[in-house]
Amino acid sequence: MTATAMKGPGVILAGVQIASRIESMKESATLAVSAKAAALKAKGVDVISFGVGEPDFDTPQNIKRVAIEALLAGKTKYPPTAGDKPAREAVAHKLRLENGIACRAEDVTITVGAKHAIYLALQTMIDPGRGQEVLLPTPAWVSYKPLIELAGATCVEVPGSIDNQFHITPDQLARAITPRTVAIILNSPSNPCGTVYTAAALRELADVLSRNSRVTIISDEIYEKLIYPEIEPGLTHWSPGSDPRLAERTITINGMSKAYAMTGWRLGYLAAPGQSGAFAREVIKLQGQMTNSVTSFCLPAIVEALTNGAAEVESMRNVFMTRARLVFQHLAAIPRLRTVAPTGAFYAFPDVSACLGCTTPAGRRIGSAQDFAEAILDEEAVALVPGEDFGECARTHVRISFACSEKQITDGVARLSRFCAALR
Ligand code: PMP
Ligand code: GLU
Repeated sequence: MTATAMKGPGVILAGVQIASRIESMKESATLAVSAKAAALKAKGVDVISFGVGEPDFDTPQNIKRVAIEALLAGKTKYPPTAGDKPAREAVAHKLRLENGIACRAEDVTITVGAKHAIYLALQTMIDPGRGQEVLLPTPAWVSYKPLIELAGATCVEVPGSIDNQFHITPDQLARAITPRTVAIILNSPSNPCGTVYTAAALRELADVLSRNSRVTIISDEIYEKLIYPEIEPGLTHWSPGSDPRLAERTITINGMSKAYAMTGWRLGYLAAPGQSGAFAREVIKLQGQMTNSVTSFCLPAIVEALTNGAAEVESMRNVFMTRARLVFQHLAAIPRLRTVAPTGAFYAFPDVSACLGCTTPAGRRIGSAQDFAEAILDEEAVALVPGEDFGECARTHVRISFACSEKQITDGVARLSRFCAALR
């Protein structure tokens, strides 16, 4: 078959057809920036990476030990598709006890990271070609929109305001819901905003959702353990799945990556307790045709983390809280940036609007957040993620992941400050 210059559905490109829904999908901006920073580091460049959202801590020893022991003991066969009973029980127990979600082990699926849990949830609920809409409060993590679109729905952005910690209001939510709305993705604490809805503010959104019974709530709670009441007093986590009005139609997503510093293990989970487990059973069927299950000898590590991990989680949370204070103190002192104080997760999301239209010392014109990120990487060796892929309202922002040492924060923000001050 000869290659053709034409692109489009059904056209063969150089022998292997590429589906248009994949070809048109954007690569993950967060992963792209971290790959670029790693490549520069490998070449010997002294890059300060504020790119990827990944704890810089190692996985706690007790969690590692349990997986090693399971491996040595021969836990090397296919586990049940949704995970083995002890892991599913441990997740269900945690969700009941900590989150107030009425959940049984059968309602839980252990997935290859929270990312795949979100993929599975969307694929299970959306019928391509039916004009379904999924609401996405923005700024939002870069992967939600591609995953919504891949499943065949339209992503409807609901923009939060920087003046309101990037939160959306109940009125905005009520106005965004249409007869085509099938779901909303909530993510508090937020990537990339670094802010957290108060329980009261989330309950107000829940009030609106309780009046719209066709809307499923996908609640991504992966940063639930990283909340800083030391910065905003009274701040706590609240799970929409604990609201009896929403419990039947809330899918709670979480995972081990952030709280337990287990990003490379690829362990997440999805809990769908509603409809007597009907949705959960469909998710498991899909996972059975895809990955089958997570790695067998990692399953006991989930149990260990959830039952014996609290002290380590708290000490990492304390370190992130100190870093959140530090990064904000430095960023707030940069005149050309506007930054909201981070109160959760490990992100700051400054607005760089005042830098747009300026020229760098090397003579580059900054026309967008993407230009800003490229220029600061080339000229100051600071890697950060440009805002464009976090939503329309995020186009003039950049994301700073402060999952790095205090020295890196201080040095990196000093470079950022010098870069901003030198713009003309
Ligand atoms: N949700 C959010 C908001 C995230 O920032 C991430 C980033 N890793 C994920 C889900 C996916 O996490 P993982 O697949 O590592 O569990
Ligand atoms: N979620 C992290 C981030 O936003 C990890 C990379 C990814 O999966 O996007 O940087």
